[in-house]
Amino acid sequence: MEEVGTGLLDRLDAMQRVAASAPGGPMLIVAGPGTGKTRTLTHRIAYLCAELNVYPEQCLAITFTRRAAEELRQRLDGLLGPVAEDVTVATFHSLGLSILRENAGAAGLSPHFRVAEEAERLEVVAEAAGLGSNPSEREARRALASLADDAPLREQDTTVLREKYVKALRARDLVDLDELVSLPVALLSANRALVDEYRARWKWVFVDEYQDVDPTQYALLRLLCPPDGNLYAIGDPDQAIYSFRGAEVSFFLRFSTDFTEARMVRLTRNYRSSAPILAAAVQAIAPTTLVPGRRLDPARVDPEAPQVVLYSAASVADEADFVVRTVDELVGGVSHRSLDSGRVDSRSAPGGPLSFNDIAVLYRTDSQAAAIVDALSRAGIPVQKRSHDRLLDRPGVEALARELRFATGLDGSLAARVRLVGQVLAARCAQPALDEINSGVRAEDVHIAVELLTPLALRCGDDLERFLRELATGAEVDALDPRADRVTLLTLHAAKGLEFPVVFLVGCEDGLLPLRHPGAAPSDDDVAEERRLFFVGLTRAQDRLYLSHARKRFRHGSERELAASPFLSSIDPGLLERRGGDEPRRPRDRQLRLI
Ligand code: ATP
Ligand code: MG
Repeated sequence: MEEVGTGLLDRLDAMQRVAASAPGGPMLIVAGPGTGKTRTLTHRIAYLCAELNVYPEQCLAITFTRRAAEELRQRLDGLLGPVAEDVTVATFHSLGLSILRENAGAAGLSPHFRVAEEAERLEVVAEAAGLGSNPSEREARRALASLADDAPLREQDTTVLREKYVKALRARDLVDLDELVSLPVALLSANRALVDEYRARWKWVFVDEYQDVDPTQYALLRLLCPPDGNLYAIGDPDQAIYSFRGAEVSFFLRFSTDFTEARMVRLTRNYRSSAPILAAAVQAIAPTTLVPGRRLDPARVDPEAPQVVLYSAASVADEADFVVRTVDELVGGVSHRSLDSGRVDSRSAPGGPLSFNDIAVLYRTDSQAAAIVDALSRAGIPVQKRSHDRLLDRPGVEALARELRFATGLDGSLAARVRLVGQVLAARCAQPALDEINSGVRAEDVHIAVELLTPLALRCGDDLERFLRELATGAEVDALDPRADRVTLLTLHAAKGLEFPVVFLVGCEDGLLPLRHPGAAPSDDDVAEERRLFFVGLTRAQDRLYLSHARKRFRHGSERELAASPFLSSIDPGLLERRGGDEPRRPRDRQLRLI
C-alpha cells in the first residue's frame, strides 16, 4: 500500500493535482490520451477517502468494460489498501443488474430472474416472431437484430415484436442484456423514494471513458446524481468509438447544462508517448477533432526517439513478414530465445532489451489477425490474441454454467467446482445415449470450456453469483495476460485505455481504415469515427510505432488493389520514415466503388 496523504498527490502533476483534489460538485475532465486520466481518477478517490473522510462505500466508480473495472479496482487497492474493497466499482451493466437484484419486485421481475444467455435470446425471439418450431439460427439472429432497429422491419412491426419478446423473456424469468440499464432507468424514473435512497448511498460518482455513454446510461447517471451532485466525469471526445452502439459524444457538451455549475479541467501533458509518436497522432486527428484548440504536449523529451515507420507492403504476406522481421530485430533474435518463455513478472525495464509482451499488433477487423498469427507462430514467436467473442457463446460454456448453478453439495473454491462439474458433464456428454439431456454438447467442448472458465472462476473466489453475473454481463474470451511473455494481438476497439512500448498498426488501407462495407457509402460521421479509432491506435504506443498497409488484399471474395489509408496523408511526411515498396497505384474506379 502506498503512503496516503500529501505524498499521494505528489505523484501527480500540477493540473492532475487540481483535478484530483477539487472540492465536490459536478466536474468534467476533458483530456487527451495518455494524460493520466485514469491515474487522476483513482488518486481522486483515494484522496477523498484518505484526506476528506469520505467513506469508501459512498463512492461509485463506473466504467464500460469488465477489464477497465478490474484495472480500476487494482489501482485503488494499491492506493488505499483493503478499504478499497468498499468502493463500488462497476460497469454500467453490472450496476444495473445489482439495482434490479435489490428491487426485483418493484421492477416487475421475479426474485429469481437472470440474464438471458445468447441461445435463450435466440430461442425466445424465434418464439416471439413466430418462426416455427425449428427456425434457422440465421432467421433468429435477423429477428434479434431487428429489435435493435438495424434491420429493415416496419417500425410498428418492431414495436409489436419487442413487446412479445419481452413478454416471452419474463415468462421464463429472464431479462435481456440490453435491459440491464433501461429497466433500472424505468424503475427509478417512477420511484422518487428509491432515487433518494441511491443518492444517499452513493454521494460520489465517477465515470471513466465518459465519451462513450449512450442515452440510457446518461439517463441513469442523471437519476443517480442530482444536478449539483458530486459527479466526476472523465474522458476524451476524440476517443469516442462506440457511436454504433448508441454512444453520443453530445453528452460531453450537455454536461454543464444538466449538471449545474460544473467545473471543467483540462489535462494537457501526455506521459505515454514519445514526441514523434504524439506529433503524428495529433496531426492524424486534427481534421475532425472534437476538441478544437486542444493542446497535447509531450512530457517525454528524448532527442533520440525513433521516427514513426510507415511500411508499404506488396501483399498481406509481405506485411506479416515485415511484422515478424521487425519483432525479431527488436527482441534480438527469436532463435536465441526459448520458444515457450513462460511468464515474466513485468514488462522490460525502460531502455532495456525488449520482450515479446512489450509488443502489440493492432488491427481494424478480427479477420486480419489470422495472417499475422500464422506468420508470427511459424517464426516461433509466442502470441496471444484478444477476442471479442462472448464467453457464453462458446460451445459448452453455457451448459457448464447451467450445471454449476444447479450443482448442490459441492464445497471448495469455485475453480475446483468448475473442474469437478466439468468432469461429470464431460463424462455424461461422452455418452451419445444421453444426447437428449445434453442438447448435443460434446465432451471436447466441455473440456475447453473448463479451461476457458477457470481464470475468469479463480478471480471470483467462491462467489458463484458474481461468477455467473460476470458471464451473463458479457465476459469475453480473454486470453490477454499482461504477465505472459507473448506478442499481443488485438482489435483497435479492444486496445482502448491500454499502452505498449511497441505498437504495430497493420492494414492502414482505404476500405479498412476507414472501414467500408460493400454497397454502403460511409457517412462523414462514420469516417470521423474511423479516424478516432485510428487516433486511439496511434496513441497506444509509448516508444515505437509501425504503421503498415498492404497494396493487395483479399476482401469481399476477391483480391483487390487498395490505396493507403487517407488518414495517413494527414501526417506530415517529415514525421514518417518510409520503408517498403513504391507508392501504391490508385485503384481503378470500378473497384473503388465495390469496396
Ligand atoms: P487513455 O486516454 O489512453 O485512457 P489516460 O489519460 O487514462 O489514457 P493513463 O493510462 O492514466 O492515461 O496514463 C498514461 C501513462 O502515463 C501511464 O503509464 C501513467 O502511469 C503515466 N502517467 C500519468 N500521469 C503521470 C505523471 N504525473 N507522472 C508520471 N507518469 C504519469
Ligand atoms: Mg484511461
